[in-house]
Amino acid sequence: MTTESKEWLLDEENELRIEIDFEAKVKLRLVTGTAEVFGTELAQNIDYEFSGRKLAVFTWHGCKLILQGQCSVEYIANETPMISYLNTHLALEQRRVLASQKNIQGPRVLIVGPNDVGKTSLSKMLLSYTLRQSRQPIYVDLDCSEGSITMPGCLTATPLTEMIDVEEGFGSSATSAPTAGSAVMPLVYYYGSPSPKDNVKLYNILVSRLAQSVGRRLEEDEAARTSGIIIDTNGLIDSTGYDIIAHCIKSFSVDVIIVLGHERLYSDMVRLHQKPGLSVVKLAKSGGVVERDSAFRRHTQNQKIKEYFYGTSKSELAPYSTMVNYHDVEILRVGDGNLAPTWALPIGEERLTSETQLVKVDPGDHLLHSVLAVSNAEKPPGTTAPDGLTTEKEMIGNNLAGFVYVSEIHDARKKMTVLSPCPGRIPKKVWWLGSLKWAEE
Ligand code: ADP
Repeated sequence: MTTESKEWLLDEENELRIEIDFEAKVKLRLVTGTAEVFGTELAQNIDYEFSGRKLAVFTWHGCKLILQGQCSVEYIANETPMISYLNTHLALEQRRVLASQKNIQGPRVLIVGPNDVGKTSLSKMLLSYTLRQSRQPIYVDLDCSEGSITMPGCLTATPLTEMIDVEEGFGSSATSAPTAGSAVMPLVYYYGSPSPKDNVKLYNILVSRLAQSVGRRLEEDEAARTSGIIIDTNGLIDSTGYDIIAHCIKSFSVDVIIVLGHERLYSDMVRLHQKPGLSVVKLAKSGGVVERDSAFRRHTQNQKIKEYFYGTSKSELAPYSTMVNYHDVEILRVGDGNLAPTWALPIGEERLTSETQLVKVDPGDHLLHSVLAVSNAEKPPGTTAPDGLTTEKEMIGNNLAGFVYVSEIHDARKKMTVLSPCPGRIPKKVWWLGSLKWAEE
């Protein structure tokens, strides 16, 4: 491994943009001055280690940095949209001050834009600046392709109480433990696919469900209520994307829409949604945002799954292996995956099988390498609960206890071996199958 180290001197309001391959490890050290990574301040004379990341180290007042290791890209940029991002934060902060005085809800901010314009990075910055003001915002992640908080395929809401970790971002420990930046467990709903287009109906049901849970949290938690929520979205901006955005606005009672890096989307959002009590704001994309190809995205998704079971180099985990009888669990998936997605059907044609129909999956060799989501549902569908029958919608709307990975199938013995981050028998019996597969290296 290379130990080559390089010193960088940054003037005020400059940023060092770096890209690090998955195979490389790079250490970053702030020697003098102040600097931040997506809003989180760096401590002086501490080595931060990165691998498989693209990031910017920004300084408001100038700094000296040392990079040790091989970056695939490294350069200083002196033109950034950071002032406009900070001003946006300050405007939102004014609303929070007002919300605290009147004990009403703080801003509910939706960040929209195409893929790779910096939506997640801007969410991190706005959340970090809010946390730096000793507030406790809720981060809602509706980008099911990325899984910033937990696994890809999930919709999550995380009450943040601590600064976002510079190295690990929003953290990787998912539902088994509180994530970095959060003393509270995130709320996780399983959608099971990287694109909202695969099952728009299910996606919208889960968005509504998540919004209801966040609403309850805001009622109970004054600090979160006045701090408000920041909602990160997927990059879908066609007509399906517009319907999804409209649904999010309604479900979360959004009062600020930030449109990042897309003129037409901005003008459409103004035309469709701007009204008294709902402002639409346009912000420029940073020149540093990097487009991620499908190989990079796949690699990031695999890394997320691996981190869920094995942890990160900073906090390693050892997963537990458990043998499960086929008949002890109920494996379900939502909708019929063999049918064309709704958007691919000819106009006016209705799907025969409901997109939200629960389909029972028979365990077998096809489950090998699947990542299954463990539902918090107590009873399988159709069983009589004290309050009557468990309906499909209720079933789908249960949040998650965690995930398991199918590492071996013993079909003749009707058993399978699963990895789980928790020891012992897995108490929850309803498991969801999505499209998530992972071949352990
Ligand atoms: P989106 O959420 O819109 O898809 P992201 O915020 O995830 O976009 O940004 C895409 C990639 O670009 C990420 O890997 C992110 O870390 C990187 N990135 C964002 N802003 C910068 C910047 N100013 N300099 C360098 N890399 C950046």
